[in-house]
Amino acid sequence: MATSTSRTFQLPATEELRLEVRQGHTILIKLLDGTAEIFGTELYLGTPIELHGQKTAVYTWHGCKLELLASGSDLNEALESVYPAGETPMQEYVNVHSLLEQRRATAKEAGPVYSARSEGPRTLLVGPTDVGKSSLCKILCNYAVRMQWSPTMIDLDIGQGAITAPGSIGATPIEAPLDIEEGPPLEVPLIYYYGHVTPSVNPDLYRHLVECLAALLKRRHSMNLDAANSGLVINTMGWVTDLGLDLLYHTIKALQVDVILVLGDDKLYNTLHQHCRQSRNVTVFRLPKSGGVVVRDPTLRKTSRTNRVREYFYGPRNRLRPHSQTVSLRELSIYRIGGGPQAPSSALPIGMKAFSEPLRFLYVTDVDPVRQTVTYLAPCLGPVPGKYLLLGSLKVMMQ
Ligand code: ATP
Repeated sequence: MATSTSRTFQLPATEELRLEVRQGHTILIKLLDGTAEIFGTELYLGTPIELHGQKTAVYTWHGCKLELLASGSDLNEALESVYPAGETPMQEYVNVHSLLEQRRATAKEAGPVYSARSEGPRTLLVGPTDVGKSSLCKILCNYAVRMQWSPTMIDLDIGQGAITAPGSIGATPIEAPLDIEEGPPLEVPLIYYYGHVTPSVNPDLYRHLVECLAALLKRRHSMNLDAANSGLVINTMGWVTDLGLDLLYHTIKALQVDVILVLGDDKLYNTLHQHCRQSRNVTVFRLPKSGGVVVRDPTLRKTSRTNRVREYFYGPRNRLRPHSQTVSLRELSIYRIGGGPQAPSSALPIGMKAFSEPLRFLYVTDVDPVRQTVTYLAPCLGPVPGKYLLLGSLKVMMQ
């Protein structure tokens, strides 16, 4: 294929340009005419945006002209695929946004003093892996911001870690459109470190952290009426059977979810619909999956996980300079929160309780006894921020 440094695309109204930038490559995208957005974040006319190894879609409600530019290398080499698509679920998604808007307006009408009625929609996005949950989460947050609300984005997907790093759950207020290159804002995030990329390692800890998050958000809402009225947009992981489903039920209860959006899974929709039937406060909607959503195989998932950890330290644009430091093990206390299989109470002698309670049984792990040191990467220079370290099982190979 001939080399190319730029390509232009003219999109009619309600079409999108789907593009996959190869891992390790960067391209620039520029809006030349009309209006366009990436998962709800509007593009500025004439201002190029960098896309690093991203799979994404540029959508236009009214038609637009776009230019793709190579950043250093050949454009064709940097792009795995690029094509326009006319069939998208954006109309359904904007209908959901309108419904959430009505609920926010009703919450605001409850008045200037906080009460249970001040709570805006608490929306949960669920579905198997690769159905577009994270993308819809961004769209709904961005559309709310464009209507002057400040929703809280919650990420419970420990496998990918959309707000900070994988292995953690967190929440962050969204007060401006999401930055396409940087992702969610990190000025005041609330992050809980779980330490593993699957909840099955310690489901009780996972539940406990979700409850901690819910309790703090409740306090915040009672002090911040705008946040309460604006509501929550909660992204979940793609495990939707067995324990994954139990954890979804737990999340619905803990975060007092009242709108559930099920993407691309009819069986899950029916299951959740049945589950929530008794509760008059919960509405369950089924939404189509976009044909553009890219299915990531386990290798690609692992790579994107590694990239998230790398971004945490080096920044999405590689402009941060983390510091490698060494500390003596004597200065640290390393803990791992226990968990795992517990004997069922039926297997214990009558009257006895399980000794190993997953949330209280803490134990010091094995560490390298020879060097007696730990070398770590910290976002900034200086002493280790605290002497207590919490060990997880997340392993990545950063180059
Ligand atoms: P997970 O299984 O990690 O929870 P998910 O259901 O949240 O995945 P997304 O992360 O939203 O799915 O989408 C998967 C990938 O597809 C992402 O890289 C996303 O940017 C991309 N994607 C989503 N929608 C589109 C689209 N319309 N066109 C092109 N790429 C898209």
